[in-house]
Amino acid sequence: MALPKIVLFYVFTPLADPEAVKLWQRTLAERCGVTGRIIVSEQGINATVGGDIQDVKAYVRGLREYGPFKDADVKWSDGAGEDFPRLSVKVRPELVTFDAPDRITVTGNGVAGGGTHVTPREVHELVEQRGEEVVFFDGRNELEAGIGRFRGAVVPRTQTTRDFVADLDSGAYDHLKDKALVTYCTGGVRCEVLSVLLKNRGFRDVYQLDGGIVRYGEQYGDAGLWDGSLYVFDKRMHVEFSPHAQSLGRCAECGDATPRYVNCSDPQCRRLFLCCERCTQTGTRTRCPDCVPVTGN
Ligand SMILES: [Zn+2]
Ligand SMILES: [Zn+2]
Repeated sequence: MALPKIVLFYVFTPLADPEAVKLWQRTLAERCGVTGRIIVSEQGINATVGGDIQDVKAYVRGLREYGPFKDADVKWSDGAGEDFPRLSVKVRPELVTFDAPDRITVTGNGVAGGGTHVTPREVHELVEQRGEEVVFFDGRNELEAGIGRFRGAVVPRTQTTRDFVADLDSGAYDHLKDKALVTYCTGGVRCEVLSVLLKNRGFRDVYQLDGGIVRYGEQYGDAGLWDGSLYVFDKRMHVEFSPHAQSLGRCAECGDATPRYVNCSDPQCRRLFLCCERCTQTGTRTRCPDCVPVTGN
């Protein structure tokens, strides 16, 4: 592959016939020779697609030919060709699985009643103006937040996006109702829903980071309010914004900083846990701390 690229995008727009859009997307992706993961729903489209730059460009051109997707905010990043071994195009009840399809209303202008979109620069301005009143709220799960997050961010107790509704409804974050809450996630899509859930819960001052961590990283890297590594859902598993990025993850065995999640070697478990390169290579730890508790040190 000459120059492998990955694109990330979503469009919230009502789709009357998601099955038809799915078929068209599959044909388009196959014709262009790109792979990745495309989710279509009555709420719109959410996708991560990769391939050679020329093929990805052709795919994006094809995507934009369809009226509702013509203004799609497409985020480009570098990626290795083997990051997405195959193409998956699926119809789902929701673009992101909060198990709350009825809690949001999608119109031709996107999700109704969400947080105010702010650019990375505007987030910095907000923090400069309002200081401690601004609280970052991580829209991802604990595993993702475990290796990198915004400074001082609240990380909800979630294993998957499905856990958000119950966690918010538990009232665990109600003490933050008067703060300026800035939600963020990888590319922004989860915040479109999460910010509505927060507002419906009575949070008044809610913002969502436009383009997510991906776009923030492009502009500020590690030189702003972000610390650590970004968890990604392909074979890379994590990316860093600079060579001197310090991951916030800690090896389960030796405690060294590491962004490396590996699967527990117990076939009944297979849970992801943090293990540094050295401890993996020496074989000191192959099973997760739940299967084999950490001893000593
Ligand atoms: Zn280690
Ligand atoms: Zn295990």
